[in-house]
Amino acid sequence: MSDAIIRLQDVNKWYGQFHVLRHVNLEVAPGERIVICGPSGSGKSTMIRCINRLEEHQQGQIIVDGTELTNDLKQIETIRKDVGMVFQHFNLFPHLTVLQNLTLGPMWVLKKSRAEAEATAMKYLERVRIPDQANKFPGQLSGGQQQRVAIARSLCMHPKIMLFDEPTSALDPEMVKEVLDVMVTLAEESGMTMLCVTHEMGFARKVADRVIFMDRGEIIEQNTPDAFFDSPQNERTKLFLSQIL
Ligand code: ADP
Ligand code: MG
Repeated sequence: MSDAIIRLQDVNKWYGQFHVLRHVNLEVAPGERIVICGPSGSGKSTMIRCINRLEEHQQGQIIVDGTELTNDLKQIETIRKDVGMVFQHFNLFPHLTVLQNLTLGPMWVLKKSRAEAEATAMKYLERVRIPDQANKFPGQLSGGQQQRVAIARSLCMHPKIMLFDEPTSALDPEMVKEVLDVMVTLAEESGMTMLCVTHEMGFARKVADRVIFMDRGEIIEQNTPDAFFDSPQNERTKLFLSQIL
């Protein structure tokens, strides 16, 4: 794939002696939507955190939107502007209002005026269906609302790529749907490249172009969602699916 927006080539990473990513190869096309699943501890978070350099790989190449990830701080800065990330625990600033959480990055990093940053913030709060919460503090919101703020906050930076790391796994069951609905709309309307670690099969079937299964630091299997869930090939994939289904 010559036009890949993300390319991992034979990527290896260790935590001390522990070989956490083993010869990972992955190419993501612009606009592609990928769901990553696999057992706990298989390296899913580590892999996506390497894509925006929250973690460092030791061998192989990671190229994001034409820029290779090295220790060059300028390159890391360039990539972080292109890549938004949403975590399991929303990571909002608790002492700032929702609106302030959303305008901080655009004002300080993108050098937008307050008026422009606030207009953009309100646009995305509407998109995640909570414009009425703009002046509250994160602690006054439900988990589902906080996660939607976190998604809106990423979108305010106009990333080309969005990374999601189990965005619904810390939520009470009744809030999972409202967050997934927002993500489905985002996937369908934005054409943005998305990588999402999740075990939400319904979401994967609805939006993913490709599902990737990781186990023990390796990509073991990948396929379209229907083929992946309906006829997994690898024994480890079958075992995993039998446990989550
Ligand atoms: P997953 O997201 O698939 O659950 P992770 O990428 O979080 O897996 O972790 C993969 C493995 O690496 C786990 O065994 C975990 O304990 C270990 N690990 C994760 N982060 C660190 C770290 N900062 N230092 C040492 N080991 C880590
Ligand atoms: Mg994880």
